[in-house]
Amino acid sequence: MVASGRVAIAGGSLGGLTAGLLLRDLGLDVTIFERSDAELEQSGAGIGFLPDSARYLVERAGLDLDEISTSTRFIRYLERDGSVSFEREHTYHFSSWNTVYRALLAAFGRERYLLGREAVDRRETDDAVIVRFRDGREVEADLLVCADGVASTFRPQLAPEATREYAGYVAWRGMVPEAELAPAVLEELADAITYSLFANSQILIYPIPGLDGSVVPGQRLMNFVWYRNYRAGGDLDDLMTDRHGDRREVSLRPGLVRQIHVDEMRATARARLPEKLASVVTAVEQPFLQVVFDVRIDTMAVGRTCLVGDAGLVARPHAAAGTAKAAANGWALAEALDTHDSIPAALAAWEPGQLALGRQLVDRSARLGTRSQFEGSWDPADDETLFRLRAEGP
Ligand SMILES: Cc1cc2nc3c(=O)[nH]c(=O)nc-3n(C[C@H](O)[C@H](O)[C@H](O)COP(=O)(O)OP(=O)(O)OC[C@H]3O[C@@H](n4cnc5c(N)ncnc54)[C@H](O)[C@@H]3O)c2cc1C
Repeated sequence: MVASGRVAIAGGSLGGLTAGLLLRDLGLDVTIFERSDAELEQSGAGIGFLPDSARYLVERAGLDLDEISTSTRFIRYLERDGSVSFEREHTYHFSSWNTVYRALLAAFGRERYLLGREAVDRRETDDAVIVRFRDGREVEADLLVCADGVASTFRPQLAPEATREYAGYVAWRGMVPEAELAPAVLEELADAITYSLFANSQILIYPIPGLDGSVVPGQRLMNFVWYRNYRAGGDLDDLMTDRHGDRREVSLRPGLVRQIHVDEMRATARARLPEKLASVVTAVEQPFLQVVFDVRIDTMAVGRTCLVGDAGLVARPHAAAGTAKAAANGWALAEALDTHDSIPAALAAWEPGQLALGRQLVDRSARLGTRSQFEGSWDPADDETLFRLRAEGP
């Protein structure tokens, strides 16, 4: 059992915080180094909240699932004319990135959560890993956990074979306060995840906690995610060039998408979506964008360093399982450290299961995305379209 030692975590989002909490619970001396200068406030975007994502907060931090998430009873698909083409009863929980981040950070505390610390390199000696930061400082640790997200600094070092492929579409996203929606719209959307599909397009809308974390109906936000195809090259370059003329690789924050694209997106919403869904999309003041990627790797651990969450494999979002995968990586890491006598042995034992978990998610999500965005063969009745981390089970 590895019960003492210094752990450095690069990246203080949901994956880094969950791993940090779990390793600290084992008795390890954990410090989280986050690149951002300020505590993260990621626009409050919604997340499908699977059991693995909620597990730390419910099992160890003593929170009630219903305090930190909304829930819906139905999965519903609407046609352009507003008629229901498919409906089934199935309960989902949803939360927002901000709600979960705030709860995890409160549990971890701020003393060993260091902001403005961008890790840029690492080297390993026989008995330590030395992490170097942008400001030139170095930190020696016994274990480095890289939780630095989809554009990870450390992935190319650990997994030079990694491939990051653009899926051929992006997610337009946004939230609007429920209080700003017409009563008839709210009534239809409040207790469901509502989908609508047309050629090369899929939109889903669901309620999430308000910006202040409120889960009281009427005080929540309605969240949309709209997958739309853009050709690699010219189309995507133009879309992802922000208001300041900078081409962004991964995302455009609220306020950075150029007006010409916001106008086009709203016009398409009015022309092609069911009216009630279009009314949500067009009410969002500052929609934002995330590019959809598949990232595949064959290595998640080398020596005393490992990759967790989106720093490792990245799946398209159709299974709503990205944060669940990040959390599951952390739980498995804690278990491996608890059952092995050295860090390198624990990492070597941890890696195969985490590669397998990630690969099945990347493959399953890519199949779902292809059906929705390219083949027009998405089948709402197929259980494969249900949100879940593992092919079977929750
Ligand atoms: C459109 C879309 C919809 C999604 N929907 C869902 C959903 O419904 N449910 C779900 O569970 N998941 C969803 N996801 C996936 C989810 O957002 C990610 O899987 C999750 O955020 C990954 O968490 P992470 O902690 O690994 O990385 P990130 O959240 O990307 O965090 C990485 C952190 O590392 C920091 N960092 C980066 N580089 C460095 C460095 N060199 N040194 C120090 N710090 C650094 C960054 O500032 C950031 O804070 C969705 C993703 C997309 C694109």
